[in-house]
Amino acid sequence: MSAQSTASKPIARSQCSEYDVIVIGSGIGGLVTATQLASKGAKVLVLERYLIPGGSAGYFEREGYRFDVGASMIFGFGTQGTTNLLTRALKAVNMSLDTIPDPVQIHYHLPDNLTLKVHRDYEKFLQELSAHFPHEQEGIRRFYDECWKVFNCLNAMELLSLEEPRYLMRVFFGHPFACLGLTKYLPQNAGDIARRYIQDPKLLKFIDMECYCWSVVPADKTPAINAGMVFSDRHYGGINYPKGGVGQIATKLVEGLIKSGSEIQYGARVTKILLEGGRAVGVKLATGQEYRAKRIVSNATRWDTFEKLLPAEAMPASEKRWQKRYQKSPSFLSLHLGVKAEVLPPGTECHHILLEDWQKMEDEQGTVFVSIPTLLDPDLAPPNHHIIHSFTPSWMEEWQGLSPQDYQDKKEAVAQRLIKRLETIFPGLSEGLDYQEVGTPRTHRRFLGRDDGTYGPIPQRKLAGLLGMPFNRTAIAGLYCVGDSTFPGQGLNAVAFSGFACGHRIAVDLGL
Ligand SMILES: Cc1cc2nc3c(=O)[nH]c(=O)nc-3n(C[C@H](O)[C@H](O)[C@H](O)COP(=O)(O)OP(=O)(O)OC[C@H]3O[C@@H](n4cnc5c(N)ncnc54)[C@H](O)[C@@H]3O)c2cc1C
Repeated sequence: MSAQSTASKPIARSQCSEYDVIVIGSGIGGLVTATQLASKGAKVLVLERYLIPGGSAGYFEREGYRFDVGASMIFGFGTQGTTNLLTRALKAVNMSLDTIPDPVQIHYHLPDNLTLKVHRDYEKFLQELSAHFPHEQEGIRRFYDECWKVFNCLNAMELLSLEEPRYLMRVFFGHPFACLGLTKYLPQNAGDIARRYIQDPKLLKFIDMECYCWSVVPADKTPAINAGMVFSDRHYGGINYPKGGVGQIATKLVEGLIKSGSEIQYGARVTKILLEGGRAVGVKLATGQEYRAKRIVSNATRWDTFEKLLPAEAMPASEKRWQKRYQKSPSFLSLHLGVKAEVLPPGTECHHILLEDWQKMEDEQGTVFVSIPTLLDPDLAPPNHHIIHSFTPSWMEEWQGLSPQDYQDKKEAVAQRLIKRLETIFPGLSEGLDYQEVGTPRTHRRFLGRDDGTYGPIPQRKLAGLLGMPFNRTAIAGLYCVGDSTFPGQGLNAVAFSGFACGHRIAVDLGL
């Protein structure tokens, strides 16, 4: 997985430059923070270790295909309400993107012939699910309707920093019922709500999968706030794919950042956050170059931030407590395929989830995720060809201690196994292959700079909803975190929320 193009050239600056804010990393969380601050007049420097921006929302090009590194199912591009955070983030720096609406969020292929589609149309989805569980028709509606209540609370208010008391007061007096609603749901998990209305064990398994496919934990460990957002916004703002590929989001944010007078450097790996008197004052790059700023933001994971960029032995007590509550999720085994168009049966949807045995949902290479973005944007592949990106959870331990040859052999073997499983949805897939590339947890670690290639933090045990997820400020003065290691967690729209919140908190702290 490596990029073939560089979005902009590094910008030379003198070593002693003083910026308002330095952002370590140009994932969507980092870029939204940077652009929010730049749009308010701050002088921001983004330092990205890789060659292009985007992190897990980046892209790479091979033989006429443009592959998304990770994310392809994109929330946050709606046109109404307040939860359309990607649209809003781009707009803040006078940018926009053409998007292509996806009529179906997921086509599920689950055990016991539970095959169904989550339609953009809410009623159509409820009907299709209820047809599989007619005895639970009422419970299904009550569960998903309750998720709408969560969403409606969120969608009534501007989503900014919950660490900023004046904003909280403003929001509370403007939307008292929405705030009380959110306070009620904040400590709850989706499983608590599901079991209130649903008894059928197989249907509860389905709700587990509905959560697992983006939170990588079952419903009991999935915060109700996140579930409310995902289960409703897919029918409200909908899933919309950015024309030109997911990489366009970061590319456009960078364009807006530069037009707003701020800067980004690529190939700039931060190795150390500089502290003076216990306060974060700057960063040091692998080249030895140092930069200073009034505020430092880390878009790296918390494990990378507090164990590598800062001395692990000096980890603040609050981080140690956090690490006892949250653990690293597995990474992914990613199979990027270029295929002949005839491989896809007519009417194939863009996103699929495949699982053959409920007991294996959370296992290594258990659940299989599939995205075919060329069904929405054919320009991402050569004529009469499609991209199939298939990925499945995989732990770093599976891939360590192998000789280079054993590593290659294992990659080939798992790719073959995965292709065989995919043949149940796409018969004839192996004969239609035109291009194949495998990414492992080692690939994710190397190219995304994420400890063990993790997808992000997951609760060690059942926690009180989102209450344990940290906001953007840290125990170290002047240092903030943003991205999926902070409230509200993984996913592009979620990290955009974190970016809005981080930008807002810093703007208040700097008096912007
Ligand atoms: C396979 C896969 C599929 C996914 N599918 C979806 C999906 O369909 N929909 C969805 O919404 N989400 C999806 N996600 C999740 C989503 O992509 C992530 O939650 C989100 O992109 C994380 O953004 P971030 O800003 O927190 O961090 P990242 O994307 O990890 O970005 C962090 C950036 O910081 C840089 N960096 C790290 N350390 C340093 C350093 N020391 N110095 C300089 N730079 C550094 C990295 O290079 C990287 O560019 C998927 C993720 C994966 C891996």
